[in-house]
Amino acid sequence: MEKKLILDDTVRTIGKRTDGYINFGQKPDGSQFRIPVIVIEGDKDGPTLLVDACTHGDEYEGAEAIIQMADKLQTETFAGTFIGVPALNFEAFSCISRVSLSDGFNLNRIFPGNKETYITHRLAYIYMERVVEYADFVITFHGGGDVLHLEPIIGYLPGDDEISRKTLELAKAFNQKFIWRMQNLPFNGVSSIEYKNILGIPSILPEVGSHCGRLYDREKNVKICYDGITNVMLALKMLDGELPVPVEKMHVELHYLHSRNGGIQRLVKKKGEIVEEGEILGEIYDVFGNKIEELKAPYRGVVIGFWSVPVIRPGDWWYLYAKILD
Ligand SMILES: [Zn+2]
Repeated sequence: MEKKLILDDTVRTIGKRTDGYINFGQKPDGSQFRIPVIVIEGDKDGPTLLVDACTHGDEYEGAEAIIQMADKLQTETFAGTFIGVPALNFEAFSCISRVSLSDGFNLNRIFPGNKETYITHRLAYIYMERVVEYADFVITFHGGGDVLHLEPIIGYLPGDDEISRKTLELAKAFNQKFIWRMQNLPFNGVSSIEYKNILGIPSILPEVGSHCGRLYDREKNVKICYDGITNVMLALKMLDGELPVPVEKMHVELHYLHSRNGGIQRLVKKKGEIVEEGEILGEIYDVFGNKIEELKAPYRGVVIGFWSVPVIRPGDWWYLYAKILD
């Protein structure tokens, strides 16, 4: 890393690894809003890979994988620099919340942020200025959190230029089946997209794990994240070794299908199922047991995710349903 990432507080330095915090605002209680950062300098020259998690505070699978990867890399030979940010929205993470508690904002809708207004906007701005800026490649982990289930899917912003080509290569290198072309998102301010658009950094968004699988699948999903980081580092030649056998990919475009009514929902089609146009995806019942809504597949597609809580409110994301592109 030529330019130097500066931490405000160093917690510890062990050999080539430094753990610390970047501060971005004093709270009324005198403590700081802060971003925990792990920096590990490799033994040879190479790219800087930034891996972050908990842009949404309740999506922990990537966080655990970052902690495990840092533990491995501090004693292992590798090229380049690894920057790990296990809990970007540290306040939301601490409160087991998707969004910021102090101002209510969803950090993944307000990038690139600004220094002058709300604390979550300041977090986005300071993070890009003081951390993301130093990266050559970014993996930014998400997941289903506490209310959705998602099959592992690797998002990237497509385009015709060289950065977009590298971004797609990164998404494929992660080595999961579903590759998500994020060309039609119905909202703005997504960190991974702004890292690419504003800073020109190839950046991918893996969605892995959720609360509904954590009782049995916590380790499995953390391992998917961990293996994905390893595979990207192998592809970038930061680690020596054989690339894994590529899994067969399905390129998709994700759509968010909302519920019209609230009630108790029943999932008819579940994760990974291919559904024909017109087939019923899910149903909603009122508290007297009457069916009040049916959701039909608007096209032939594949179920990537769904609302995982039995109760659903009007307007919630019910199905994350994908068009199959190729
Ligand atoms: Zn998320």
